[in-house]
Amino acid sequence: MRKPAVKKVGTYTIDLTKIDGDGAFPCPKCGAMISPDDETEEVYTILKTKVKNDELAELTLTCNKCRSKIKLKGFLSPSEDTKYK
Ligand SMILES: [Zn+2]
Repeated sequence: MRKPAVKKVGTYTIDLTKIDGDGAFPCPKCGAMISPDDETEEVYTILKTKVKNDELAELTLTCNKCRSKIKLKGFLSPSEDTKYK
């Protein structure tokens, strides 16, 4: 039995509330510096954005170096989260 040679691509989740500074972080796999302010799409490509109450809630991007998928969350401040009401 031969399995198709599909490389499994990992998905990582980054919580922006745990990142200091301007929100830039190294790719969890290859260490490429990913900055949300970088709009050149040289280091990463944005796949999907999720907007909640006109605010960016979640962002899915792919690292152009290692092809990892990275999900960013934590754009909203906890006080705006009405989940625990
Ligand atoms: Zn990477």
